[in-house]
Amino acid sequence: MTARIHLHSGAVGVGMTSQRVRDRLIERLRANGINDERVLNAIRAVPRHLFVDEALATRAYEDTALPIGHGQTISQPWVVAKMTETLLETARPAGAPTMRVLEIGTGSGYQAAILAALGLEVFTVERIGELLRIARKRFRTLGFHIRSKHDDGRIGWPELAPFDAIIVTAAAPALVDALTAQLAPGGTLVCPVGASGGQTLIRLRKDESGAIDEAQLAPVVFVPLLPGMVD
Ligand code: SAH
Repeated sequence: MTARIHLHSGAVGVGMTSQRVRDRLIERLRANGINDERVLNAIRAVPRHLFVDEALATRAYEDTALPIGHGQTISQPWVVAKMTETLLETARPAGAPTMRVLEIGTGSGYQAAILAALGLEVFTVERIGELLRIARKRFRTLGFHIRSKHDDGRIGWPELAPFDAIIVTAAAPALVDALTAQLAPGGTLVCPVGASGGQTLIRLRKDESGAIDEAQLAPVVFVPLLPGMVD
């Protein structure tokens, strides 16, 4: 299926994407343990229905992953919220410049937009060229300044490293060493790890001395982190 965007679609049912429907999603996230108000506000503000095909817009505020073409999915809002909340726990020294975040797996662009809406400086990498082109259009239309590149994200973005936070939105069989290496001291990395069906969301923290601490956050379901690039 080829994903097409309709950013200014008048055909989207107003009722299905209304503020009330969005508020209901926020309440559901809250009930499921998301309590960082900054994250909840970002999810309330970013129009998720503009990150999926028009035919799916009416389902955009359900707490569920949705197809975005090329066998890929936009992540479930709870997972986006949990990963974002985890990254925001990164301790920043007073007066430090804006936190720089690297995302691997741009997909629809929704997670990157949430991070940008929180005022973070976002860098995102996607291996499927067509998905990246569509995501870039959304960033432009919605006014998000997000740097992106078409590449195999398993190599990270070495020229721009280190990053204060790294978020991987596709599941790797094991943590990717190149990404851990690009994490700044004091930084946080979140990544789903494991084979399909049995993945765990992992949070990795690097302390100022470079020592690594790893924690398991939740069972999750993600598409796989794949090698190489496609147009
Ligand atoms: N963060 C996305 C989730 C998309 S699903 C969103 O908010 O919509 C995961 C994405 O990771 C897919 O688009 C897939 O193509 C991409 N991906 C998988 N392996 C990758 C790799 N090695 N490098 C970059 N992107 C990758």
